[in-house]
Amino acid sequence: MTDPERSRPDAGQVHDEASLDRFLSELEDVLHDLSVRTGLCWWEKYTGGPGEELDDLYRERSEIMRDPRYVDLAERWKGRVRDPVLARKVEILSLEMLGARVNSAPEVYLLHNRILDRVISFRPVIFGRETSNSERGRILRQEADRALRREAWVSTAPLSMEVSTWTAELIGRRNELAREAGYKDYVHLALALASLARDEVVSIIDELETLSAGPYRSFLEKAAQDQGLGEIEPWDVSYLVEKVTAVPTDLFPRDRIVPSLEEFLKSFGREPGDLGIRIVNQDIPFAGLCMGIDPPSDVRILANPHDGHNYYQTLYHEYGHGLHAVFAGDNPQLFQEEPGVFAEGMAEVWAWFTSYPEWLRRMGLDEEMSRTVAKNQGVRMMARHRALAAEVLWEFRAYQNPRQNLTDLATAMESQYLLSTARPVHRWAASAFPAGYPVYKQNYILADLIAAATHRALRENFGEKVVGNPKVFDALRDTYWRPGAARPWRERLKEFTGRDIEARALAY
Ligand SMILES: [Zn+2]
Repeated sequence: MTDPERSRPDAGQVHDEASLDRFLSELEDVLHDLSVRTGLCWWEKYTGGPGEELDDLYRERSEIMRDPRYVDLAERWKGRVRDPVLARKVEILSLEMLGARVNSAPEVYLLHNRILDRVISFRPVIFGRETSNSERGRILRQEADRALRREAWVSTAPLSMEVSTWTAELIGRRNELAREAGYKDYVHLALALASLARDEVVSIIDELETLSAGPYRSFLEKAAQDQGLGEIEPWDVSYLVEKVTAVPTDLFPRDRIVPSLEEFLKSFGREPGDLGIRIVNQDIPFAGLCMGIDPPSDVRILANPHDGHNYYQTLYHEYGHGLHAVFAGDNPQLFQEEPGVFAEGMAEVWAWFTSYPEWLRRMGLDEEMSRTVAKNQGVRMMARHRALAAEVLWEFRAYQNPRQNLTDLATAMESQYLLSTARPVHRWAASAFPAGYPVYKQNYILADLIAAATHRALRENFGEKVVGNPKVFDALRDTYWRPGAARPWRERLKEFTGRDIEARALAY
């Protein structure tokens, strides 16, 4: 065993830009090594292994990112470096250190890891039978038996009740530490790290809500009537959306997902085997998960696909993360990680290709069916954004006042946005998000705005020839993926689309 302290660079040696450059490169080596080991450890956990060193790895990161000598150094040099690359590195380092004041505090990461451990190993029990997360998802979307859907919907309550005290404590601690760092609460801090403001996100969500309220209500009421349902229950919503908008699942068999992705890449002139992205099947508490273990050579995707168009969208989404990670992976360590909002945007840009009529025709759908699928995406997205809005605003308000009854808050948000009957069931803590990925869900809404604006720009620039045009791949790579965080994400979005992020990018 070597003493990790000894291999860390000495902040005392930095007295000019040249020595700062050397210091940062050495620090990046340390952070890179730690990031690879942490990635492998999470991988082990998600694939059923022990992943025992996780707390130690988080402690190591905490010791580096909260080291007062390093924090001082970043503060001292911030805004004072002439070299633009070096200046950007200092800017990112100090943002990461700000995040670490909360996320790398031992009382936070120990709770975070402990809760996530429970969430990952939890299997829902439905009518007395232990089932998988993906089967639970399938029931909620596709099962005609309403009682079974209700059982699936309430099946996460035991997990929620088990971890809710820890999760509430975690929310409180994150808030305290964020306030110590000068922020109103943790939501404000977390969004600032991604160059976003709380008011901005709330007003985008409000705008989308107004835009979708009328059409969503008429869609839901008609669908419920057609299915002979009286009151709309929360366990009916996904089912109704799926029932009305889904194409027959046999047109999208699970065993063609990966081949279709490979063919699609080849149509852009890329060899999938050259990219270093590996896909592994595993039941996880997400639709899919992409892990950039050691980009560009080692990027892995966990997924649990079934038959159906939405599983194609999921895997393409994860592959979008993969492409982003692979090309950003040529950068120095500090430029490799990007804020969640842009990362999800990159994933959705790729997923959106599965709604192109050209792509659907390649899957063997006729002209009319291709147009129907493309048209139905609007309804699906409306429903998805409203469900996400309920979760996002629940979380924002939970941080605003963690002492309120969080189940009542979740119930109120859900019935308001889904337009379903209020059913106060304890479910809010039963997901990886509140503990493991706090202030993250808004990224999925914003990602669609990024994707919409990007695809509009692609159509403007390349006309009918978007799918299978190597120049499209190159444009995405050069402006979006390859620069990584070396250039701020909003700047790259403006360059690509001509606009900043905005609700009106979407028309549903
Ligand atoms: Zn994603």
